[in-house]
Amino acid sequence: MKEVLFGSPYEAHPDWPAFQDRLAAEAVSVGYTNTYEIRKRLAGARVWPHHVKSVADLGAIPVLAKDDLPDLQAARPPFGGLLSYRAGTLRRIYRSPGPINDPQGDREDFWRVAPAASAAGFGAGDIVLNSFSYHLTPGGLMLDAGLRKLGCTVIPGGVGNSAAQVEIACAAGATGYTGTPQFLLTLLERAVEMERRLPFRRALVTGAPLPPELRARLEYEFRVDVYQSYGTADAGTLGYECPEKNGWHVAPEIVIELLVPGDDRPAADGEVGQVVVTSPNEIYPLVRFGTGDLSAWNREPCRCGRTSHRLAGFLGRVGEGVKVKGMFVHPRELAGALGDDPAVARYQAVVTEGAGGVDVFTVRVEAAPGCELGDGEVAALGARIREAVKVRPVVEVVGAGEIAPDAGVVVDGRGLGRRRDVK
Ligand SMILES: [Zn+2]
Repeated sequence: MKEVLFGSPYEAHPDWPAFQDRLAAEAVSVGYTNTYEIRKRLAGARVWPHHVKSVADLGAIPVLAKDDLPDLQAARPPFGGLLSYRAGTLRRIYRSPGPINDPQGDREDFWRVAPAASAAGFGAGDIVLNSFSYHLTPGGLMLDAGLRKLGCTVIPGGVGNSAAQVEIACAAGATGYTGTPQFLLTLLERAVEMERRLPFRRALVTGAPLPPELRARLEYEFRVDVYQSYGTADAGTLGYECPEKNGWHVAPEIVIELLVPGDDRPAADGEVGQVVVTSPNEIYPLVRFGTGDLSAWNREPCRCGRTSHRLAGFLGRVGEGVKVKGMFVHPRELAGALGDDPAVARYQAVVTEGAGGVDVFTVRVEAAPGCELGDGEVAALGARIREAVKVRPVVEVVGAGEIAPDAGVVVDGRGLGRRRDVK
């Protein structure tokens, strides 16, 4: 195995699950001792810090939804009783969409971006164009702090002004980029128009989805080695890709649970669950903070040497899924099964109520021009969908144009007949 330079000593922890248990206990203890709101929530659930010795013990504590933060913060400004110290001791205060106020404590690389940037291959000597905003929202300084910790030189590009960003990146010989994947493509294309060539060799992208076709363009057409990281303004870095590029390793210093929407039980391997974060951060501890993002576990050991489990990417937001025969079906899972199939032009899943109130899960597919979907292909599609969403579908081939371009990918048609009857 090649030697790996980790960005954090925790990345190769020999017993990662036990380490998560320790972090969970520490987060509850810090949150209870230092913050009004976590103390109140624990008391409401009749949980005392000494009860929590493992990630499983967190199960007795209700999840705090990110969507509830704006109200909480409005009631007890600026941080809803979740800050350990007075706001005047912070390094900076930001505001994210929500609106949600975000604190930055007084330590280097507060959001733990360095391990993600290191996994992407950044290090001392790199000159990096950082195209996240440096104003109001924390994205710009988040990435900046992680890159600086690794010894990189940062060009604070900020948002927009692509021609100026191309010029400075070329003039400075920038070896890398951080920002959204879409803006990276914008810059690369802009450079072509300007008859310049951006010297980027690698990129750490975050803040927006990275569809496979976009990644392929960036990596094969423009020769930029692209890595993803995932995080939030509240909790910092939550996961990131290693050179294997097969899922996001859970970041150091935080606990992640994946909880099945609706009943909040831990997701089984491969099952979709909400990313719920617990963090022993010294100034902004979080205990069961529900991000609203969906992912799934990949607990296979990784060849890179990092021992943390991996998240299987961004699989949508809570509320997008539709429950079919007891399983949540999400647009992202269907995309995983059908999105890359060149024979399929469009698809749509429709859930209806069959005889005896049984859910009927129909996936309508439209063949791509020049492609035939015969019995063999339909059976194969059905098997792939079942593998992806754990529900057996009825696959129905429909004619061109029958699925409207703006139609929902997963449509819940149950109860429609009854509602019509009422009218
Ligand atoms: Zn790995």
